[in-house]
Amino acid sequence: MNSRKSAARTERLQQRLDAGFVSAHFPEVASIVISMMYSQRGIQKALPRTVNFFPGSYALFRVDCLNKDCVDGGFDLTQIITAMIQNRREAAKGELSCVGNGSSADHSAIVYEVAIQYA
Ligand SMILES: [Zn+2]
Repeated sequence: MNSRKSAARTERLQQRLDAGFVSAHFPEVASIVISMMYSQRGIQKALPRTVNFFPGSYALFRVDCLNKDCVDGGFDLTQIITAMIQNRREAAKGELSCVGNGSSADHSAIVYEVAIQYA
C-alpha cells in the first residue's frame, strides 16, 4: 500500500469519527438506502452496489471509488442526502463522477438512487 493512500484512509477514518451518528444529526431518519450502478472506464459491465445507513451509522454519506489507482476518490452524497432530509423527500436519483485523482480523469462514475425512510 502506498503512503498517500494510507494517509487518505486515516483521514477518512477521522472524518467518520468527526461526522458522528445519523441519529444525532437526523433523529427523524429511520433508514437511508443508496442503490447505485458503479461503472469504471474500461470495464464494460456496471456493478450494482447498495449501501445502507441506519440511526447508528456514521453520518458520512460517502461511497468509495473501487479503482485501485484512485487517490482521495469517492462519491460524496452528503449534500444530496442532507437536502433531501431538510425537504423530507423520500427518493432522489442522479449521477456523480469520482472526485479523486486517479490514473485517468473521469475514470469512474455512479448512477444512484437514494431512498429515505422517516421514523
Ligand atoms: Zn476514483
